[in-house]
Amino acid sequence: MSAFGACRMLRAVAGRGWRPRSSKPAPSAHASRPGAGFSFELTDEQKEFQATARKFAVEEVIPVAAQYDKTGEYPLPLIKRAWELGLMNSHIPESCGGLGLGTFESCLITEELAYGCTGVQTAIEGNSLGEMPVIIAGNEQQQKKYLGRMIEEPLMCAYCVTEPGAGSDVAGIKTKAEKKGDEYVINGQKMWITNGGKANWYFLLARTDPDPKAPAGKAFTGFIVEANSPGIQVGRKEMNMGQRCSDTRGIVFEDVRVPKENVLLGEGAGFKIAMGAFDKTRPPVAAGAVGLAKRALDEATKYALERKTFGKPIVEHQAVSFMLAEMAMKVELARMAYQRAAWEVDAGRRNTYYASIAKAFAGDVANQVATDAVQIFGGNGFNTEYPVEKLMRDAKIYQIYEGTAQIQRMIIAREHIGKYKA
Ligand SMILES: Cc1cc2nc3c(=O)[nH]c(=O)nc-3n(C[C@H](O)[C@H](O)[C@H](O)COP(=O)(O)OP(=O)(O)OC[C@H]3O[C@@H](n4cnc5c(N)ncnc54)[C@H](O)[C@@H]3O)c2cc1C
Repeated sequence: MSAFGACRMLRAVAGRGWRPRSSKPAPSAHASRPGAGFSFELTDEQKEFQATARKFAVEEVIPVAAQYDKTGEYPLPLIKRAWELGLMNSHIPESCGGLGLGTFESCLITEELAYGCTGVQTAIEGNSLGEMPVIIAGNEQQQKKYLGRMIEEPLMCAYCVTEPGAGSDVAGIKTKAEKKGDEYVINGQKMWITNGGKANWYFLLARTDPDPKAPAGKAFTGFIVEANSPGIQVGRKEMNMGQRCSDTRGIVFEDVRVPKENVLLGEGAGFKIAMGAFDKTRPPVAAGAVGLAKRALDEATKYALERKTFGKPIVEHQAVSFMLAEMAMKVELARMAYQRAAWEVDAGRRNTYYASIAKAFAGDVANQVATDAVQIFGGNGFNTEYPVEKLMRDAKIYQIYEGTAQIQRMIIAREHIGKYKA
């Protein structure tokens, strides 16, 4: 293209109101708007969210994280504090009293919280997961009632989809809801529910069409269920490998009556809602994995600068410094992956492909980087007196929850191959 042609094209672009994002901060938190240009610079507002979360993580979470890991106690004081600081429920719309932040901004906060402790971050993220179906599919009344109360008080909620017999294969869930008059009667069992014993209400997916041949897109319905409804039995807190202060439980629903007003969108819409929520929650899960990986990189680097072998700090052994370089590469790329996935969904575009890439990649990176950090610490890395063994245990779940590493690859392959078939 001639210089004249390029110039004319740029003017035409400018005429459509495009401008570089860095020239002027975005007026609202949603800096990542379509047409906002390409920039790695955060807005002042985004930097502020990030700094607030970082300060909280470093000053208030890190000093107590090991103790919560040891006892498995639910970190209620930290959750209350995060709520006070506006670091929880940040995506609840302004119409319900929330900040209405975009996924991009929520991810920036999540990365910092995870840097402090991913057990605490998962408890907080459990709220986002429980709330997301109500945000994407709730009517005004449902949103005001159930999201509004999360702003008034530091309450928790939960996303109840997985069952003892069905995790990856969501369409295999057996919990059923039968319509009786103006109510639905729910019977079934859920498993591995984050915040299960702490939630004020649940998003619950149940089968409403008893026909086993009914397609998933029509057979399931999403409900909002008050946690104090008669017939709900919350199981014992599960003792997990990592993220031990997060509350994970099984829940039994026995003849639990839910008013028809608590159906999201309508009968049969549940599967789409439950899966659709992941487009907005997988980028923050990836951001959590990045926060953990960054922490592992920082701890390993500091240690490598101090620890001496053969007369010099181990960081001066090329094998160690190259390991740190590899870890740094992974952290940087995983961060870009979650930011792209978040940016896409904030721009109003279908981001399923990017969300799965971010979740799968960052989950793997968290595990690789935490394992390498333990390696750099040598024998000390294997010991609970040092922070990295916790990071290695905490990392594993990022390859399991919100869709396993294998399920993400199935989604990426489907989305990728689909483009060639279209
Ligand atoms: C700590 C924790 C918190 C959780 N929080 C929640 C929550 O809040 N709400 C909720 O609803 N659920 C939650 N879960 C459940 C979680 O999402 C599931 O454990 C996860 O989706 C995997 O399901 P599963 O455990 O049944 O494993 P399975 O589905 O039985 O999978 C077992 C293995 O087989 C692989 N696999 C399965 N199908 C395929 C396939 N088609 N191709 C290739 N490989 C396959 C899987 O990748 C995995 O490696 C949580 C789980 C844990 C451990």
